[in-house]
Amino acid sequence: MITISGKSVFGGVSIGKILFYQRNDKAIKRERVDDVDAEWKRFQDAKDTAVEQLKGLYEKALEDVGEANAMIFEIHQMMLEDLDYLESIENIIRTQEVNAEYAVATTADNFAAMFSAMEDAYMQGRAADVKDVSERVLNILSGADTGIREMNEPCIIAADDLAPSETVQLDKSKVLGFATMYGSSNSHTAILARTMNIPAVIGLGEDLKAEYNGKDAIIDGFTGTLYIEPDEETMKAMQEKRAKDLEQRALLEQLKGKENVTKSGQKINVYANIGNVSDLGAVLKNDAGGIGLFRSEFLYLENSDFPTEEQQFAVYKKVAESMAGKKVIIRTLDIGADKQVDYFGLDKEENPALGYRAIRICLTRPEIFKTQLRALYRAAVFGNISIMFPMIISVKEVQKIKEIIAEVKEELKSEGIPYKEDVELGIMIETPASVMVSRELAKEVDFFSVGTNDLTQYTLAIDRQNSKLDEFYDPHHPAVLRMIRMAAESAHAEGAWIGICGELGADLELTEEFLKMGLDELSVSPSMVLPLRNRIRQCE
Ligand code: PEP
Ligand code: MG
Repeated sequence: MITISGKSVFGGVSIGKILFYQRNDKAIKRERVDDVDAEWKRFQDAKDTAVEQLKGLYEKALEDVGEANAMIFEIHQMMLEDLDYLESIENIIRTQEVNAEYAVATTADNFAAMFSAMEDAYMQGRAADVKDVSERVLNILSGADTGIREMNEPCIIAADDLAPSETVQLDKSKVLGFATMYGSSNSHTAILARTMNIPAVIGLGEDLKAEYNGKDAIIDGFTGTLYIEPDEETMKAMQEKRAKDLEQRALLEQLKGKENVTKSGQKINVYANIGNVSDLGAVLKNDAGGIGLFRSEFLYLENSDFPTEEQQFAVYKKVAESMAGKKVIIRTLDIGADKQVDYFGLDKEENPALGYRAIRICLTRPEIFKTQLRALYRAAVFGNISIMFPMIISVKEVQKIKEIIAEVKEELKSEGIPYKEDVELGIMIETPASVMVSRELAKEVDFFSVGTNDLTQYTLAIDRQNSKLDEFYDPHHPAVLRMIRMAAESAHAEGAWIGICGELGADLELTEEFLKMGLDELSVSPSMVLPLRNRIRQCE
């Protein structure tokens, strides 16, 4: 048995034969042409055919995976009509007097290299897209068939990487899972895999070889593992894991579209936590009512320099638009402690969890904070965005934040840049101090969201990162639960709403207690949305 570890994109277990997907990798020859006008026309015809094909794919994807995910094929159409792209191809054909295939392949390589060199993770992901659309045109020019080879039986698709158009063209009834050597969880293929509910593992590297084609394999999408020619023991364990998962999923599927309501009629919002745009697929698939925590610091962690206002705006706008009017709570950056970024130039600290982090950085380095706030207020025009601030300990901090917000709005206004005037504002309740002054804080904001991960750490004085302290780390400790109750009472007394976005929100043993406290919202990882709905509906 060969065991290869990668990164999980979507949970579940799939068992079957590997079909190693080989692309039609034809060597592109550079050939001289006499009639450059005719060659340019040949390219234009191929491009028009490609656009027609993409329109068809858009329609198919629209039915299969919904509008947000089908969008990629509209973007592909736009890429083919992009003036820079077309100009590059025409230039190469005319100035070098060469064939269209060569001009398209060269342009694709250049554009892909340009996208890959960009710092924004989303733009880097577009390198695969420009290659994908160009490949389509090349196939049309050379008369090769597009599309994946026929699959006679359901199988696990293995590949170096899969382009969105390749993924969506698959006969889904015959795809058991995806396993790829490369790819990022930011790629549209990863999003599609999640949306299509197919176990997937990416980043398996060179250990995944084409020679495994036809061999028996298992994908454990929970752990991100691929087993080739599994031994009997592994096969048995995985079969059991799969049966349990399917049973669970079938039960939970029935809850999609249903309300989060107890038997006696008490309702609560169930939202999802994300760290990345690529998590949106899972949010939609699991029928979350909104996004209760977007950990925006991941944008900073993925970059090698401060993300610009435009980069951030594009990401927040995309999340807001994809959620189509549902609430999206974006937390301002929570850098520091366990989330370190070199380019912030932070000093080494004795007690980083008690140190210079989160809102403390924002309030002392307002240029960083203002860039993020500008992007957020601009993006709020495109959906239902709320903003939340981490690690608050005092009313003074909230008032200072509001002053900075007022400056940001004034600046946007004077620059004539559209922004939303009234954005809902909230704070994380994750320090004991914020609980103790929660009544005063509630007067200042629209909502609270309890960060139980940090609240537990600071209340019990136990480092959440230190696994040696696991036996002492008790998130059910009455001190923690009383803190949550107190914050809830304060919020409601002042007309604010309150939710939980720490891991405790998904603790099904506490659901009933949270309902009794009158919490308005629980935000959990996407995969926990339906199990939590299930639990709520069992409560009296
Ligand atoms: C928390 O502290 O509970 C929380 C949600 O924030 P993070 O886990 O990102 O610190
Ligand atoms: Mg926290």
